[in-house]
Amino acid sequence: MIKVEHLSKKFGDVTVLNDISTTISKGEVISIIGPSGTGKSTFLRCLNLLEHPSSGSIIIDGVDLLDRRTNVPKIRQKMNMVFQSFNLFAHLTALDNLTLGQIRLLGMGKDEAARKSLDLLRLVGLAEKADAFPDELSGGQKQRVAIARCLAMEPEIILFDEPTSALDPTMVSEVLAVIRRLAKDGMTMLIVTHEMDFARDVSSRVFFMEEGGIYEEGTPQQIFEQPMREKTRAFINRVRSFHCSISSPDYDLYAMNAEIEIFCERQILPKRIGQKLLLLVEELLHLHQPLLSTETVEFKISHSEKHGTLEIVAESSGDEYNPISLTNTPDELGLNIITAMTETINYQRFEGKNRVLLVLGEK
Ligand code: ADP
Ligand code: MG
Repeated sequence: MIKVEHLSKKFGDVTVLNDISTTISKGEVISIIGPSGTGKSTFLRCLNLLEHPSSGSIIIDGVDLLDRRTNVPKIRQKMNMVFQSFNLFAHLTALDNLTLGQIRLLGMGKDEAARKSLDLLRLVGLAEKADAFPDELSGGQKQRVAIARCLAMEPEIILFDEPTSALDPTMVSEVLAVIRRLAKDGMTMLIVTHEMDFARDVSSRVFFMEEGGIYEEGTPQQIFEQPMREKTRAFINRVRSFHCSISSPDYDLYAMNAEIEIFCERQILPKRIGQKLLLLVEELLHLHQPLLSTETVEFKISHSEKHGTLEIVAESSGDEYNPISLTNTPDELGLNIITAMTETINYQRFEGKNRVLLVLGEK
């Protein structure tokens, strides 16, 4: 339905979107998450041409949006957008906010538009507010009117840009409920949101945006439970981490341990956990010993307050080698100690690196 290829957007010299390619099918609900300033709004705005992309192409149902002959108002109607700040016409009632576009852009008769608008207001739970002006509505109600107005244009795709960010927390759920309902009815939607629980259960796919692109994408399960790339993990788990890189068998274990102890103190971890961590790192380093004369091993320890876990990742460059396989290890006892102390231990070959992951509960 939507095919984006090599989409880039620059503002002056600043590249905000860098070579985005993706395909979105009919009926998909895609949540777009990521830190602020990473181009999420710009991406949506490029899709419906509120911003003109610097390069690349956007094809919707076979129509090239960047072709000069493309009917832009028609595209915006087909792919309508809901904004954080509602953008209702203050001088029009809720009903008239809906009928206006139907009459002007869809060429609908007044009565028919009014009838349909009332149905849509009913759909978002606001039929009794048809004659109210935006000023007389709460934030949540305004946003529901804005969604109804968007639906009035009979869009095939809806773009939501942080639809609940301007709302009082008590009003977030009424708006999310309406969006959930649309998802259930099969509407194709792209939703920029900071509501992680909502993103997790409403979407078919999640895009994590970072560095001006779709840094990682996957099912909600993949992105929220097993994000593969570092910045995604940090964002999802809001982790704080400690890094160190070891490239010689004669590394200074005492110095490294001292740094880990400082990290544990900063994270306010119990002493007992700190000691467990030191032991694990030492054993894990030992398992990597055969690699240290030729390769670099990167250690990263991350603390996720949210999950109450400590995660140790050891990544090594070079050929495929699994340091935690019983056939490779020079130290079976060490491996047993690690296995007994951790909740998760696994090996993956990922992006050309060997990666061992240990997860340790905070309790
Ligand atoms: P997000 O929605 O992820 O927070 P935005 O898409 O709003 O990010 O912005 C991405 C970057 O582009 C930011 O650094 C922002 O300052 C910049 N930017 C956005 N719009 C403009 C504009 N019209 N002119 C110049 N810079 C802009
Ligand atoms: Mg934004």
